[in-house]
Amino acid sequence: MAYKTTYPYTNEVLKTYEDSSDLQVEETLKAGHELYKKWRREDLLDERRDQLHLVADILRRDADKFAEIMTKDMGKLFAESKGEVELSADIADYYADKAEEFLQPVDLETDAGDAYYVKQATGIIMAVEPWNFPFYQVMRIFAPNFMVGNPVILKHASICPGSAQAFQDLVHEAGIEAGAFTNLFINYDQVSDIIADPRVQGVCLTGSERGGASIAEEAGKNLKKSTLELGGNDAFIVLDDIDFDQLQGTLGFARLFNAGQVCTSSKRFIVTEKNYDRFVDMLTESFKNSPWGDPMDPETVVAPLSSPGAKEDVLKQIDTALANGATLVYGNEPIDHEGNFVMPTILTDITKNNPIYDTEIFGPVALVYKVKDEAEAIEVANDSKYGLGNTVFGADIEHAKAVGEQIETGMTFINSGWTSLPELPFGGVKNSGYGRELSELGFDAFVNEHLIFTP
Ligand code: NDP
Repeated sequence: MAYKTTYPYTNEVLKTYEDSSDLQVEETLKAGHELYKKWRREDLLDERRDQLHLVADILRRDADKFAEIMTKDMGKLFAESKGEVELSADIADYYADKAEEFLQPVDLETDAGDAYYVKQATGIIMAVEPWNFPFYQVMRIFAPNFMVGNPVILKHASICPGSAQAFQDLVHEAGIEAGAFTNLFINYDQVSDIIADPRVQGVCLTGSERGGASIAEEAGKNLKKSTLELGGNDAFIVLDDIDFDQLQGTLGFARLFNAGQVCTSSKRFIVTEKNYDRFVDMLTESFKNSPWGDPMDPETVVAPLSSPGAKEDVLKQIDTALANGATLVYGNEPIDHEGNFVMPTILTDITKNNPIYDTEIFGPVALVYKVKDEAEAIEVANDSKYGLGNTVFGADIEHAKAVGEQIETGMTFINSGWTSLPELPFGGVKNSGYGRELSELGFDAFVNEHLIFTP
């Protein structure tokens, strides 16, 4: 039984889950494929719209219940879990409302005749999802594909089975037919078998580069479409003309939300020398005022990390950084508690030969870089194998946008920390993956743009 809930605040095993058998996998594929064919034959869009709105209603009605399940699985603050439930409900509502518009045929300009394309379902989609946003990550795939008419099979992270089960129960409570969404407690080999199955037409993964590379390999071998949302080493650029008041309230959120375990967390703070000292003081103050503690307690700011292994990895990365010449400005003190806590930590003087220079740290650790000017800030921001998101802070917004456009990422946030909304595309370039989720782009990820041409 690989799937179990171990509460990261106490490291107590709260529940274990039965593995899914190959027979269950086959039944899931069969049900999904039958439903896909039915959805291709019959126009059931209105029914699906109402069901998806009901999913959103149930999420909001039982927000406390779902939030606690997530917190118990992976340790995030209860308040953050509640925010995630709300965002997941918003995503469900968004795709329920927009699907009809997104599915309109698209006329094509040609002198050769009449041409248009219709967006059609393709088949079952295999979703491999991580633990850091146990509901939101799943909803990003389920909601658009449900409205398109693609059934979804979920393999969730082995540390958050409670959330996976709760999502499945939620979908059933909304009256959605079996086969539309099925959570399976499966291993990597079973995932590979599912990807290879001809009834499956796509696979998406959010997670590590290693996981992404193996899923993409399986997809490639089997000629299946794939999308990948992987890690990031997002830059937070502070320009010369910054008004420091703008930063108030942003720094803690940008790095400490979800204990820093966010792919789009700001991980590298790149500050022009004019503002460097004041910025480091402000960041230090913000971290000092961020107490760690019980994730259910509304006063807590820093939650435990998701597992003992996650904590160990982050502590090792801090040690590596320090052993290679980094300066410790704040943090890195041991925390005497059985939970997986890492103290918010600030490191500076990271040189290019420090192994941590281009390593993603998935925890509450901020690296601060001093640069002489804006040009160097852009150079350092782009000197990364990752390209997920970044932030630019500056008083002249048009100028900040122009700087943002020069950063090789999929998303730039001006004068704010990272953001995710149903209508904004989410995804990156370079080793951060390919494809987009959310917005109309996410809706289109696994559709067949079927051309109808009459000369
Ligand atoms: P992993 O890639 O190990 O896990 C993510 C999911 O993929 C889990 O469900 C995992 O299952 C599954 N998985 C991993 N390898 C395979 C495989 N070969 N075949 C089938 N399934 C597989 O990521 P981590 O849990 O280590 O998450 C941390 C990393 O993920 C971070 O470093 C971060 O960079 C990245 N991440 C990116 C996010 C984004 O939105 N871009 C969001 C969250 C994380 P199991 O749990 O059973 O191992």
